[in-house]
Amino acid sequence: VITRRAFLGAAGAAAASAWARSSRAAVPAATDLTVDAQKLRSRLERLSTFGRPAGGAFADGVSRVAYSDADVQGREYVIGLMKAAGLEPRIDPAGNIFGRRGGTGGSLPPILFGSHIDSVPSGGNFDGDLGSLSALGVLETLAASGTVTRHPLEMVVWAHEEGVAFGRALACSRIVAGDIKPGDLDEVWNGMRRADAIRRIGGDPDRILEARRPKGSLHCYIELHIEQGGNLEKAGLQVGIVEGIVAIDKYDAIVTGFANHAGTTPMADRHDALLAAAQLAVAVHDVVTSEPGRQVGTVGHLEIAPNAPNVIPGSAKMSIELRDLSPEKLRRLGDAVRARARDIAASTRTTIELKPASLAPPASASSDVQDAIGRATEARRWSTMRLPSGAGHDAQMMAQIAPMGMIFVPSVGGVSHSPKELTHWDDCARGANVLLGTVLEMDRV
Ligand SMILES: [Zn+2]
Repeated sequence: VITRRAFLGAAGAAAASAWARSSRAAVPAATDLTVDAQKLRSRLERLSTFGRPAGGAFADGVSRVAYSDADVQGREYVIGLMKAAGLEPRIDPAGNIFGRRGGTGGSLPPILFGSHIDSVPSGGNFDGDLGSLSALGVLETLAASGTVTRHPLEMVVWAHEEGVAFGRALACSRIVAGDIKPGDLDEVWNGMRRADAIRRIGGDPDRILEARRPKGSLHCYIELHIEQGGNLEKAGLQVGIVEGIVAIDKYDAIVTGFANHAGTTPMADRHDALLAAAQLAVAVHDVVTSEPGRQVGTVGHLEIAPNAPNVIPGSAKMSIELRDLSPEKLRRLGDAVRARARDIAASTRTTIELKPASLAPPASASSDVQDAIGRATEARRWSTMRLPSGAGHDAQMMAQIAPMGMIFVPSVGGVSHSPKELTHWDDCARGANVLLGTVLEMDRV
């Protein structure tokens, strides 16, 4: 667990606390202010039109994959809202959008909060959008009431959060956390170089390293997000206080067989890449379910070639994704899958290469921020539960440089990454107000 003291040092924290005592009266209680729920709803509905299927409605979801036209348009919409709110939006070299409001506390580090607005193909209207537009709502609410916090407040709309483009997730918060090598920008996806993709959304790949923010430069990072799972709904509770985000180990499995005639090649003489891939998918399921725990494993992407009815598949490429709070367990499961892949390759007379694609570490939420969320919800008498996040979030990248916390609101049926993703408007508004309260609580810490 990361404490704020660990980042600031004891002396800095003591000075900040002294300052807090002397100026406590300047900032209102969280319950004195309320984010405009109707405005939040109409903005979520408007944002959903960028990437909506042709002729569709809100309930048909959205395809706003990072760097697509819809993504560019959605970003322009949010930037326009930020300007109208009197913020001066800044796009960092990685393409992330920031909007800042000054504080009274001299050189105190900013409180950063926000989320993302890119989506998976055929995704929902709440994943990322809720946290991004609520962040703006929080800044507007504070401005309208004339409230000036001690810490500067900064909202962020992260670019390229979903793991679709370039097969990377959390791509641009990762850069801010300092995890970037110049060669990374030479990757090609859909015929587009990553450097050009970043340019397309207003970033500057030539200055990419300037997007980094050093450890300790933020007071904290707070993200409001839909749960994307069914725990809150099942328990009948209103707000989730996230304890941490599970680690994700991703692999690409490349299976090489031999493409040959489907009519003339006897079964015993085949090197069928799809058969091997299918067995490997079963093996992933077996390995992940072979021990107790909350770990999950998924084969979600499969490509075969030549992909023709009358040709034995000569090659297959598939994704393998393993998630758990414990990185040790993930390494162990990965090793077990690798061992099974060797056996499958031998028995199907193919070769299977298992390449680590990305390893995202687990991230603990700071106890300070968890407690602040607790106080913000208590003040409104809303019910809470503490829970881990099974989904990856930009917050896990921010956890590397700042105390981090996340607020969850219920997802109906636990459905996400689907047009059926739904969070009731009341819960959206509740989330925005918990974010507001948490920002004010953290300003006092
Ligand atoms: Zn998200």
